[in-house]
Amino acid sequence: MLIIFNEGVKQHQVKEVLLDLNVYRHHSVDIRGSLHVMIDSAVNLIKTDKLSKIKRQKCVRKVVDENIDYHLADASAVDGGRSVVNISGYTIGSNDAFNIIAGPCAVESSEQIYNIANKLANTGVKLLRGGTYKARTSPYKFQGLGFEGLQFLSGAAKQNKMLCVTEVLDTKDVDNVANYVDIIQIGARNMCNYALIKAVAQIGKPIILKRGFSATYHDLLLAAEYVLLHGGKDLILCERGIKTFENYTRNTLDISAVPVLQQLSHLPVIVDPSHGTGIRSLVSPLTKAALVAGSHGAMIEVHTDPDLALSDANQTIDVQTFTQLREDLVNIGRAIDKVMC
Ligand code: PEP
Ligand code: MN
Repeated sequence: MLIIFNEGVKQHQVKEVLLDLNVYRHHSVDIRGSLHVMIDSAVNLIKTDKLSKIKRQKCVRKVVDENIDYHLADASAVDGGRSVVNISGYTIGSNDAFNIIAGPCAVESSEQIYNIANKLANTGVKLLRGGTYKARTSPYKFQGLGFEGLQFLSGAAKQNKMLCVTEVLDTKDVDNVANYVDIIQIGARNMCNYALIKAVAQIGKPIILKRGFSATYHDLLLAAEYVLLHGGKDLILCERGIKTFENYTRNTLDISAVPVLQQLSHLPVIVDPSHGTGIRSLVSPLTKAALVAGSHGAMIEVHTDPDLALSDANQTIDVQTFTQLREDLVNIGRAIDKVMC
């Protein structure tokens, strides 16, 4: 059972409600001002008269007594149905903005990441990506620079007044990653790794949660629920392509995911057209499609020399293509009141 209290509820009011239900074990989360208290499902057995009394209390906004599904991630969990992530003044999730995250698939060297960061910053990019712990499908391929890569990524971002994001693969690296980046990414392969999700959520840093290759919207929203239930407050969902019968592309970028997830949830939704297609020439058209479909942003793999990229070369675009894409996005954005950020 879940009781959602109104904004500004006092501790003693919560205590009174819980005592009335004979509840001693519960889990509370504060989601943008409203206190959400989960109670053991055994309490479902309480008598209906008690339940209706609780529902009538002024401090209680809603009681969810049926089987608990996702509620913290649900659109109804926040007033107005939308949440915006704020990272030191840089926001992700506003309906009038399109946030562009760009950078190489992997941090390959200090020189490589400082060079590309500088070029991207000059085009107006404020959020730098770069994998340092790489989840490669083949164990024989470049696995990332690990801790050293984190230092390079963070240094390159700072030098260019950018924020940065990287993926964490292992619970043992969560603290290190959190010390160096502004947003922590949970990748598609780990969308159902609940131990990792909990460890990252507890840190309290903004999180990008990518949709698993074979995950339904419902699966993704339940994974999001794990994040929110375990302390994650600033969460962004990312559609990055799913497995379908089509094998021309690496994955099928599910553009429908953008409006569907935005209808179901209050969380910002971005797309990753690079992993979503696996093909360089499809990155620009799919980013534009995502913008028009209402996405809050895109994460794009860019390299100074894509053919030499140590990972995901086929889906990585060069700086010139990226610059043109950004210009096109600015122009399209003007027609639909979206500013590139
Ligand atoms: C990535 O963004 O570097 C990545 C590996 O993405 P995904 O988890 O979507 O495959
Ligand atoms: Mn990649």
